[in-house]
Amino acid sequence: MRLINLAGRLATQEAADLVDVASASGGRFGPDPHDVLDRWDEFMAWAGSRPPAGAPVPAPVSAGPPVPRPSQVFGIGLNYADHAGESGMALPSLPMVFPKFGSCITGPGEVDLPSDTVDWEVELVVVIGRPARHVAEADAWAYVAGLTIGQDLSDRALQFAGTPPQFGMGKSLPGFGPTGPWLVTPGEFADPDDLEISCSRNGSRVQHSRTKHLIFTVPALIAYLSSHLPLRPGDLIFTGTPAGVGLGHDPAVYLRPGDELVSTIEGLGSLVTRVSGSDE
Ligand code: ZN
Repeated sequence: MRLINLAGRLATQEAADLVDVASASGGRFGPDPHDVLDRWDEFMAWAGSRPPAGAPVPAPVSAGPPVPRPSQVFGIGLNYADHAGESGMALPSLPMVFPKFGSCITGPGEVDLPSDTVDWEVELVVVIGRPARHVAEADAWAYVAGLTIGQDLSDRALQFAGTPPQFGMGKSLPGFGPTGPWLVTPGEFADPDDLEISCSRNGSRVQHSRTKHLIFTVPALIAYLSSHLPLRPGDLIFTGTPAGVGLGHDPAVYLRPGDELVSTIEGLGSLVTRVSGSDE
């Protein structure tokens, strides 16, 4: 199933059409994406009786974040070996978890630069679909509603301002959590653990990898996080970024007003982020 938030109303792709979930269900499900996420098993049963999605269609420009108000947003640092290397950091022995505060979550579209030290990080984002606590890795995919694309935008100066560094604030400024455009259920992928992932800046590719290179896989992250705290429907996990971020360049390169990021993941389409701000 391929789902999309169109101006605050959840739609599902059936054949080549985008169908409003609230209307098609006769009001059984509300238009807000969270109404569906909170009753995910019931929704999946209803969706099973509907026509399947055809080939992917372009995302309308009105697409918003698939999950507008997640109760928890987890970031995972240094989860690709090549990115840990370019950051000059040792490989983590446990998932390195930081918060992205929920007010930063947006959809495709514009982000206003707050400084001249903002970096890009394309990431596979997991959307939790069922309450999860002490979940075994082998069962973890059953707790996933779907996957989407995210940008873990990061103000590097703020991220590394203190000792020890505190990642949450520097990765949570307004607009620093673009997500979307699609929420695609795991069953739509031949192998949801091995997806091509890339990011281009102004048309030149800066990041390119596959999610099979994640040090801690999606099931491993769900098992780890849920061993410590409950995961709730609609929670997001930004699973980490591969090499090629601006900080990894010598000298470092950061976003400028007028830049365009296109973040692409196999089976999920592309998330377009336009950068605005005063250029001085
Ligand atoms: Zn990240």
